[in-house]
Amino acid sequence: MKKQFIVIGLGRFGGTVARTLISLGYEVMAIDRDIRKVQDFSSIITHVFQADSTDEKVLKELGVSNMDHAIVAIGDDLQASILTSLILKDMGIKKVTAKATSEYHRRVLERIGADHIIQPERDTGIRVAHQITSNNTVDYLELSPDFSLVEVLAPKAMYDKSLKAINIRAKYGCNVVAIKRKDNSMIVSPLADDKIQEGDVLVMIGSNQDITRFEKGIA
Ligand code: ADP
Repeated sequence: MKKQFIVIGLGRFGGTVARTLISLGYEVMAIDRDIRKVQDFSSIITHVFQADSTDEKVLKELGVSNMDHAIVAIGDDLQASILTSLILKDMGIKKVTAKATSEYHRRVLERIGADHIIQPERDTGIRVAHQITSNNTVDYLELSPDFSLVEVLAPKAMYDKSLKAINIRAKYGCNVVAIKRKDNSMIVSPLADDKIQEGDVLVMIGSNQDITRFEKGIA
């Protein structure tokens, strides 16, 4: 059975998450306390309700506890965001992804047991800084405070060379976990003998320090 998602808060962030999940073919339930938001989304989300997510009784009545994954996309109302995340975890929802608006907000959500915390402005800021300072970095995703996943356009010097010959792991301590080809094909877990071609994007995992060293090394 397909995973079922509940999105709480249909602002810019939550609305985009809900729309994208639907376009990916998932079943989505959504809640917002603002009736205008509920009306805006009623044509695309079948199960969209006006409710206050800090009301545990209402969440139970709506069957929220049957959902596999909850996304708490409440922005400015810190108290509502924290309380909602707490209630959802207490209800036994396996995965709660919550949006934080500050470092303190993030720390409280971590303590409560939110499984995945996003700080969109901060996360995008980090990604953009990497993209604009490195000509080769296509995308950058922080996995934890210490480790990141990065997509780097292979520089000319690597063309026609095998991963073994380039030896990124020994030189920079980063692992190439996949290669994206120009034709959109993907080599997952590439072998040491796989050769880099023009237009390849290397998907790499490593410590933030090692990745920065690699980005600078190939610049
Ligand atoms: P964004 O920056 O993503 O647009 P907002 O803070 O503007 O975020 O939007 C958050 C949404 O969450 C709003 O539509 C708001 O009505 C909704 N929201 C806030 N608190 C609650 C709550 N307790 N229950 C349900 N929805 C809420």
